[in-house]
Amino acid sequence: MKKIIIIGGGFAGISAANFLRHSSNQLEITLIDQKPDFNFLPMLPDIISNRIDAKFLADNLQNNAEKLKVKFLNARVDSVCLKESKVTCLGNDIFYDYLILATGSQTNFYNDINLQEQAFKLDNLEDAVLILNELNSQKYENFVICGGGYTGVEIATNIWRYFSKRKLAVKPIFIVEKSNEVLGRLPRWMQEYTGLNLKKMGIEIIRQVEIKAVSDGKITLNNGKIFPESCLIWTAGVKTPDLIKHLGVKTAAQGRVIVDEYLRINPNCFCIGDNAYVEINGQPLRMGVQFAIAQGDLAARNIIRSMQREKLKKYHALDLGYIIPMGNNKACGIVLGLKVKGVSAVFLHYLMCIFRSLSISNRLGIIKDLWKNK
Ligand SMILES: Cc1cc2nc3c(=O)[nH]c(=O)nc-3n(C[C@H](O)[C@H](O)[C@H](O)COP(=O)(O)OP(=O)(O)OC[C@H]3O[C@@H](n4cnc5c(N)ncnc54)[C@H](O)[C@@H]3O)c2cc1C
Repeated sequence: MKKIIIIGGGFAGISAANFLRHSSNQLEITLIDQKPDFNFLPMLPDIISNRIDAKFLADNLQNNAEKLKVKFLNARVDSVCLKESKVTCLGNDIFYDYLILATGSQTNFYNDINLQEQAFKLDNLEDAVLILNELNSQKYENFVICGGGYTGVEIATNIWRYFSKRKLAVKPIFIVEKSNEVLGRLPRWMQEYTGLNLKKMGIEIIRQVEIKAVSDGKITLNNGKIFPESCLIWTAGVKTPDLIKHLGVKTAAQGRVIVDEYLRINPNCFCIGDNAYVEINGQPLRMGVQFAIAQGDLAARNIIRSMQREKLKKYHALDLGYIIPMGNNKACGIVLGLKVKGVSAVFLHYLMCIFRSLSISNRLGIIKDLWKNK
C-alpha cells in the first residue's frame, strides 16, 4: 500500500482524490483540509447579494471522503518536509510516498496587520456570510472595495444587487484601484463593457489611488479623500498560503510554485491548482476552476504512472475561457475563443457553476435559488 497525502480539499485536491481512488484500490489516500467543507468559490459573491443560500455552496469533506474510501483529516497542515517526505499537523508527523499540494490561494494583505483586522475579504463561505451580515446590519454609509480585479467587480455589483433587490436606496459603492484600469489585464472591450455596466449601477471607480489608512470605519485614501462610516473590502491581490512559502522551493508571482512539465516539485511531490505556477503561451496561467480540476487529474494520473514506472504525461493547459458575472444579470467573457456578453454570458457562468458543483443536492439548490432570485 503506497501512502498518498493530498493537502487541500478544494477543486484540485478533490479531483486528484477522485482519480486516484478510481484508478487503484492499492493506495492509502489521506485528504487533509483545515475546513470541514469543500467551498464552491465562484459563487461566493452571490451569497453577498443573498441570491444563493450559502448551504448550497458547501460539501462535507468527511462524507465525500467516505464515498471515495479516502481517509479525511480535518486539520491545518503546519509544515511539509520535502527531504524527509513528511507532513506535520496536529503535532504529528505523517510520512508519505507521494504528496499532492493543493492548498489554493488567499487574500494578500501584504503583512499589514491593521488592514487585515479592519477589512473584509472573500476567501471562503464564512467570509461571504460575514459580509452579508454586515449588509444586514445597515451600519455603513459607504462601501469601499479595494482592488479592481474580477473579485472586486463581482463584490461591488453584488452589494448593489443586495440593495436594489430589497428596494432600498443603494448606498454609495466605490472601487479603489491603484492602476489606471479596472480589469486591467483583460481585453479592452471587456473593460469598456464592465465600465459602462458599473456606471449604470452608480458604482464609482477611483483610479490611480491607494488606501492610506483605515480605522474604525474611517477610510483615508492617498489623494486625501476620506470615507466615514465605511465598510472596506480588500481584494487587492492573492497569494499562496505560508505553508508553500516555507517549502524552500522556487516560486513565482503570488508565491506560486514553479513546477516541472509534469506538475512536480520533486519525484514524489506534485503541486497543483492555485499553488502551481504554469505558463500558457509565455504568460502565467490564471487561477481557475478548470485548471485546478485538470491538474488534479493529471497529478493523480502521473502518480499512478510513476508507481508503475511508466513515462509521465506532460501538462498542457486547455483554456475553455472565462466569464466576469455581475450582480445586475450582465456578464462578459470569452468562451471557446468567442466573445460572450449579456444574459447569455450570465447563463454560461451559472451553467459552469451547476456543472462543477460537487453534489446533486447542491446543484438542485443552486438551480432553485437562481430561479427564485432572478
Ligand atoms: C470570489 C471568487 C470567485 C471566483 N470565481 C471564479 C470563476 O468564476 N471561475 C473560475 O474558474 N475560478 C474562479 N475563482 C478561482 C477558483 O475558485 C480557484 O482558482 C480554485 O478554487 C482553485 O482551486 P484549488 O483546489 O487550487 O484551491 P481551493 O479551491 O482554494 O482549495 C484549497 C483548499 O486548501 C485548504 N488549505 C489551505 N491551506 C491549508 C493547510 N495549511 N492545511 C490544510 N488545508 C489547507 C483550504 O482550506 C481549501 O479548502 C474564484 C475565486 C474566488 C475567491
